[in-house]
Amino acid sequence: MRFKPRPFTEPVPFRCEFCLDCCRGRHVYLTLRDIERIAEAGHDPQDFVTFSVEGKRIRFVLSVREWDLGCVFHDPETGRCRIHDVRPLICRIYPFMVSRKPLGVEGEGPFDHKGERLWLYYDENCPGVNAENPETVITPGEIAGLGLEFEEELERTDLDGLAELLDGTER
Ligand code: SF4
Ligand code: SF4
Repeated sequence: MRFKPRPFTEPVPFRCEFCLDCCRGRHVYLTLRDIERIAEAGHDPQDFVTFSVEGKRIRFVLSVREWDLGCVFHDPETGRCRIHDVRPLICRIYPFMVSRKPLGVEGEGPFDHKGERLWLYYDENCPGVNAENPETVITPGEIAGLGLEFEEELERTDLDGLAELLDGTER
């Protein structure tokens, strides 16, 4: 399902319902740090990294299963993520998103964080947001921080960095 943005301006109660929606049929970008962390947990990058050419850039993307386009780390029996503790940064951000520009959604407004002006949203399609029996409360500051970290890590993610990383994991 497509991300349906709603403005995220106040803390929201959250509980993942493990509905699989965000772990299937999505393009999950990986940063070098994500690849390193998952590899250190014992997974071979050859089994979970694929490539996507976007303009002049190559992006690293999480591999998916052929039969349902589910992420290779999603456990179809339990609905859970098999690498929850080391999952990619973007999976820690979802069902929220961080934008440098307003998307034109009613009720949106800027959120200033560490000197940066950002616009934050959550996915209205995620059943975990505003859950009745929440597990946690997610704050805009938390998501803004993760968004900036993702932006910075993605910026320094390139083929040379991957080659260096793979060289290091083979030693
Ligand atoms: S984050 Fe939301 S969409 Fe993703 S599995 Fe949990 S409840 Fe479903
Ligand atoms: S790494 Fe985990 S949270 Fe991220 S898409 Fe795969 S199964 Fe879902």
